[in-house]
Amino acid sequence: MAKRPNKETQAKYNKMVDFGCVVCQKVYGVYTEPCIHHFTGAGMGLKSTEKYIPLCHTHHQGKKGIHHIGTKNWESKFGSQQELLDWYIGKNET
Ligand SMILES: [Zn+2]
Ligand SMILES: [Zn+2]
Repeated sequence: MAKRPNKETQAKYNKMVDFGCVVCQKVYGVYTEPCIHHFTGAGMGLKSTEKYIPLCHTHHQGKKGIHHIGTKNWESKFGSQQELLDWYIGKNET
């Protein structure tokens, strides 16, 4: 967990922080300051599938947070984490 991100990962984090919370951007079209949320993609047990998306406090640990209401509940409201990541990538990498 305390693995230090390398430079490339750090640059991606910074870009995500500049972009803002994916849910707020996608659903409400507004910027809110995020932190990086990690999740594990498909491919159970594969180390290399750790992924991350930027989420604001509300959508992360707050009232509507994925860690608060649970992944299933959250994904049924806002879309799957993978979908949001794909959307983010579509916006940022052409
Ligand atoms: Zn948000
Ligand atoms: Zn998280």
